[in-house]
Amino acid sequence: MRLAPDLILIDTGYNSTPEAISVYLLLGDRPGLIETGPASRADVVLAGIREAGLAPEDVQVLAVTHIHLDHAGGAGTLTQRLPNAQVYVHPVGAPHLIDPTKLLNSAGRLYGDELARLFGETIPVPESRLHVLNDSDTLTIGGRTVAAIDTPGHARHHHAYWDAAHGDLFTGDVAGVALPRSRFVRAPTPPPELDVPAWQASLRRIRALRPRRLLLTHFGPHEWVEDLLGQLEERLLEGVERVRGFLGSGLGGEAITAEMRQLALRQIKARDGAAAAAHFEVIMPIRQSVLGLIRYIEKTG
Ligand SMILES: [Zn+2]
Repeated sequence: MRLAPDLILIDTGYNSTPEAISVYLLLGDRPGLIETGPASRADVVLAGIREAGLAPEDVQVLAVTHIHLDHAGGAGTLTQRLPNAQVYVHPVGAPHLIDPTKLLNSAGRLYGDELARLFGETIPVPESRLHVLNDSDTLTIGGRTVAAIDTPGHARHHHAYWDAAHGDLFTGDVAGVALPRSRFVRAPTPPPELDVPAWQASLRRIRALRPRRLLLTHFGPHEWVEDLLGQLEERLLEGVERVRGFLGSGLGGEAITAEMRQLALRQIKARDGAAAAAHFEVIMPIRQSVLGLIRYIEKTG
C-alpha cells in the first residue's frame, strides 16, 4: 500500500493474517526499511522491495524500533539478502541482534512450540553491519531525515522514528496496537521489561512532538493521534489496576487471563465487533499482556 509518493507499507502477512505486522519502505537516495518483520516473512518483504522497483542491492537501511521478533527478527536474514543494508538499533538492543540467544530463549518461553512457525529462523546480524543510534540521533532513510526518539516502557530498547518534516512518527509499539479503520487501541504489555511510568513519560514526549500521523507496526497509519494516545494510556493504567486487584483477591495467572480476555472482548466488541477481537489476539495475545502486567506488579509492588 502506498502511503505517500516515497512511502510504502509492506504487509508481511504474519501468521496468515493480513494487517498484523507492517514494514515501512522509504524510497529516495538512500532506500530503506523501518522494521524488518520476523525472519519467517523475509520473502514477502523482499517481494515488496522488488514490487517498488528496487533491486536488493539498492536497499541501504534497516532501522528497527526494537528487537522483539515481530519487529526485528528478520534483520539477520535480510542482511544476507540485501547486501548493502546497514542495520540501525537502540544501544540496549544491539547485543541481542548480534547474539539472539537470550532473545530466543525469552520468546520461546512465551510462544513454546509455535516459535519457529511464527517467526522462522532468527539469525544473528553481523557486527560489521550493525549501528547504534542514541537518543535524538538522525538518520537518512529514503529521502527523509528521521530522528531516533528513545521511548522506553513497552521495552527498554525502544526507539520511535520521528520525521518532523512530514509530521510522521513511526511508533513501533510505544503507541500500542490499533487496527486500520478502527478507533480502539490495546496496550501490548509483554514481559519482561514493561515499565508503566517510563511508558507514560514516552507518551508525553510523543505528544510534545505533535505528530500529524502515527505509523504503527501493528498496524498502519492512524491520524486520530490524541484519541489514540489517550486511550492507550487509559488502557495501560486500567490493565495495571485490574491485574493488581485480581492478584490481591488471590487469582492465579490463568484465571486473570480469562478475566482480562472477557474485559477486552467487551471493550473491543462495543467498538469494532467480534472479528476485531480475534485480530488483536493474533498480534498481541492477552495471555502475554497479562504475564507482563503480573511481572511488572510483582517487581514494583
Ligand atoms: Zn514489542
